[in-house]
Amino acid sequence: MIVIEDLKVSNMSRSAKGTTDNPGTNVAAKSGLNRSILNQGWHEFRGGEVLAVPAHYTRQTCPACQHVSVDNRKTQARFKCVECGFSENAYLAGAINIKARGHRVLACGETASAVQ
Ligand SMILES: [Zn+2]
Repeated sequence: MIVIEDLKVSNMSRSAKGTTDNPGTNVAAKSGLNRSILNQGWHEFRGGEVLAVPAHYTRQTCPACQHVSVDNRKTQARFKCVECGFSENAYLAGAINIKARGHRVLACGETASAVQ
């Protein structure tokens, strides 16, 4: 089973073109980025063994004691819980939370509204 964060691909790939009155900036660069995001085929990837879970606080939650704080995230790459001292690579800590959330969704039917 693979658990992924339910990120809004449609928002991420929104056009930068803007309107005639309010033209966008970096349109060509954003257009290229959109192409690579959409080419990932994330939508086709879902279903079956792939589970998308709510993405909120996955990077601020302590995998050890569940304490949620922005201060847990010392740097972009480093996670250290201000409550229990659990320390880990921030991306690994986030991945542990995403996997645990996936298990809770499957076992308890936890939904987006029930997740803290
Ligand atoms: Zn903790």
